[in-house]
Amino acid sequence: MSNNTMMTPPVHLSLPPSTPKPTEGCAVCAALAKQRAEAEARGNFSAAADCNVELRNCPHRRATDRKNV
Ligand SMILES: [Zn+2]
Repeated sequence: MSNNTMMTPPVHLSLPPSTPKPTEGCAVCAALAKQRAEAEARGNFSAAADCNVELRNCPHRRATDRKNV
């Protein structure tokens, strides 16, 4: 019987190791990616992180785009 409990890595409050990529064709993603780029350009990484969260949560409303992540 193997009970393999995955350890979750600690959450870093600095830049995340991987930033979510905007999905092609998704207007919400495109807008968020633009906002994120602008926030990073201003040095506002808090706002950029918010955009990353929204990018991850984006439902990508497109009928033809149904991929399992
Ligand atoms: Zn999207």
